[in-house]
Amino acid sequence: MPGYEFFGAEERKHVNDVMETGILMRYGFDGPRKGIWKAKELEAAICSTFGAKHAQLVSSGTAALTTALSALGIGYGDEVIMPSFTFVASFEAVLSVGAIPVMVDVDDTLTLNPEAVRIAITSKTKCVMPVHMCGSMADMDALQTICKEHNLILLEDACQSIGGTYKGKKLGTIGDAGTFSFDFVKTITCAEGGAVMSNRDDVYISSDGYSDHGHDHLGVDRGADLHPFIGYNFRISELHAAIGLAQIQKLDTFLSIQKKNHTALKAMLASIPEVSFRRIPDPAGDSCTFLSWFLPTEEMTRAVVAELKAQGILAGNFYWFDNNWHYIRKWDHLKNAITLNALSPEVKAAVIHHATKDFSASDAIMGRCVSTAIGLTWTEEQLKEKGEKMVAVIEKILAEYRVSV
Ligand SMILES: *Cc1c(COP(=O)(O)O)cnc(C)c1O
Repeated sequence: MPGYEFFGAEERKHVNDVMETGILMRYGFDGPRKGIWKAKELEAAICSTFGAKHAQLVSSGTAALTTALSALGIGYGDEVIMPSFTFVASFEAVLSVGAIPVMVDVDDTLTLNPEAVRIAITSKTKCVMPVHMCGSMADMDALQTICKEHNLILLEDACQSIGGTYKGKKLGTIGDAGTFSFDFVKTITCAEGGAVMSNRDDVYISSDGYSDHGHDHLGVDRGADLHPFIGYNFRISELHAAIGLAQIQKLDTFLSIQKKNHTALKAMLASIPEVSFRRIPDPAGDSCTFLSWFLPTEEMTRAVVAELKAQGILAGNFYWFDNNWHYIRKWDHLKNAITLNALSPEVKAAVIHHATKDFSASDAIMGRCVSTAIGLTWTEEQLKEKGEKMVAVIEKILAEYRVSV
């Protein structure tokens, strides 16, 4: 699943190019950098690899979301609809620009339920933010239709689905803007890094300035740049970009290994009639970083997870329902609006509202879901052994239930 599994000479070469000149910053120092522009090169590679008109590199996926939200003009008074199952960064970014995160239910795609989005729309809604979780995609046709009907911005959090597609288009390039994360456990990594992609010139120009203190980057003298608006520092360094440049060249290899291993593991689990799988709106576009599967009840799923743990083979299997980072059930800090700095009273009230909101439809999905991370370095024997052990555990638990019925 993560790019760090394939790390080697290519990454070292690009990092050494930067070390040779010592210019670790992505802007300026035109003479001493001797033509080495790793961040610029990586941005060009992102545009050509994913078919985006523009890409702005930043320091993380969280920074990419914050930058994209700002560039899209989302802030005070605006509601952003997002799924109950995502990484905490999605709502952190919304809060960081002063907007209101509105969590709604996911369905068996493990992404936004379009009907739940429709119901959540108010006069304050400004943006719908699907999160393409665990390598696969949201129902983009349905969400695009809703956004058009209600004149809403569509921002894709594609941090976990680099290389996935929907009807031929790369995830992250379909909405008004899309984001990637290149943190250490993502499909390709820069150690830390992220990108904002957009086909809109205005979103790109704003992202470029916002992530570097509002600099307009129009001249050759950084000190003489104008600042058309206030920004922050979310810059990526040349060292990080160098690693990403090596990794993006390996993306096709990563994706083809993931697909192969995913297909083989899925075939093994599919031999059990009680096991079902996540619905994929466009199966051809699954980036296959995870295989997400369901059992008939939460109780059986918990029993299987406990047995995987007891047998020491839980590693790489994620039961998000009990996880502190990815599902609303355990986001106590959010539900209690615990922040270090004061939130506006409106935002605080809207955030605390999530503590009493009904997420039973999401619970019914997430309580039965396990996601298995697909390894890039598995040998055929290791894959077979992993699959056989998982099947044996699931069969064992199911047999116990059949007897007790
Ligand atoms: C990883 C991730 C992010 C944030 O990325 P960082 O680079 O770790 O800040 C945002 N959203 C999702 C869905 C992610 O998985």
